[in-house]
Amino acid sequence: MPTIMTHAVAAVSISHALAPRSYLPTTSMLAAVAAMVPDTDVAAFRFGISYGGMWGHRGITHSLMFALMIGIAVWGYFGELPQRERLQLAACVALAAASHGMLDAFTNGGRGVAFFAPFDHTRFFFPYTPIDVSPIGWAFFSNRGVRVLLSEMRWVWFPALLLAIALHAIRRKPAGL
Ligand SMILES: [Zn+2]
Repeated sequence: MPTIMTHAVAAVSISHALAPRSYLPTTSMLAAVAAMVPDTDVAAFRFGISYGGMWGHRGITHSLMFALMIGIAVWGYFGELPQRERLQLAACVALAAASHGMLDAFTNGGRGVAFFAPFDHTRFFFPYTPIDVSPIGWAFFSNRGVRVLLSEMRWVWFPALLLAIALHAIRRKPAGL
């Protein structure tokens, strides 16, 4: 997995691109949480759940269905919002949750991501895996941890920042220009 900071960076970038303007801070916060939640499944190791199983690391919590469920929950919670903002906010948070599995599938270690769980437990990687996989737990505080962070900055932070700035600028442009 990339580090949780990197998942949060991707989520905030998605929010800047797609969130309803008047709810940007709320959307960013929820999106960051939604992008970090999938890795709570590392607890599976402690409970002896097999890595390759649906409840194992990179299993159901990394699936598109899980992201969709999060989106639906957010949509349900913000019932008082105008329809458009409500949908935009929920879609943004769902996309942030889905971005977690996408980023994991770009890493060069561990098992692949069960994108289609619970229907299909096949694990996937993208054909190109430039992001160094992060060591889990305390092992992160090591030379390898630093290398991983640098690799994430190059492949995620930097493009995410550029994307956020570009889209933010485009969205701020007054209509008609
Ligand atoms: Zn993960």
